[in-house]
Amino acid sequence: MWHSHRYTCSTAKAGRFRRENRLYRKPANIPTCGTGSPVVYDGEDVTIVLAFDRDWTVDVNAHPRREAVPLEYVRHWKENTKHEVWATGNQLLVEEAKIPGTVESVRRLRGDIKPFGEKDEQTGRYENWPEREKRLKILEKLFPDADEYIVIDDLDLKHVDNWNHYYAWNFMEALRNGELSIEKPTPKSDQEQL
Ligand SMILES: [Mg+2]
Repeated sequence: MWHSHRYTCSTAKAGRFRRENRLYRKPANIPTCGTGSPVVYDGEDVTIVLAFDRDWTVDVNAHPRREAVPLEYVRHWKENTKHEVWATGNQLLVEEAKIPGTVESVRRLRGDIKPFGEKDEQTGRYENWPEREKRLKILEKLFPDADEYIVIDDLDLKHVDNWNHYYAWNFMEALRNGELSIEKPTPKSDQEQL
């Protein structure tokens, strides 16, 4: 089982949100770091939309020479945090990580999946599958109040407004360095040693 870290100091993170019209929400009744910055329980007070590509991003199909995001982590954030975790690349990740994907995002936004057009039963492909950028914009519309939008993809998506793009290997590094407002899960056995 994977468990969330307890408290995390968000000192460096408050200014990093790209949507300038949003104020960082300081939670009530929680301790602060030495600097007076709020300490945030991962997932309790900050909602991040995490959009995951699959191939060369998650370890079910890692880049041959680069670090990938463990599938366990994706599942953890979905199951144990309030972050919104979605599959925006290869939709095999929907089943593998037990997270919603592009079809579900359109279904929720539009009420049905007519915008996709016909599905080719042989290839499983829809007539009007949206471009990657559009898939992110659909999520943004679904969660307009999110604090941050992060996409992890081996394709460069840093041109997409309001989204922070990471390659999996950079994402994992940022996670280890505490540069993100999310934390990697800690195995229970490790926590008990703390
Ligand atoms: Mg990929």
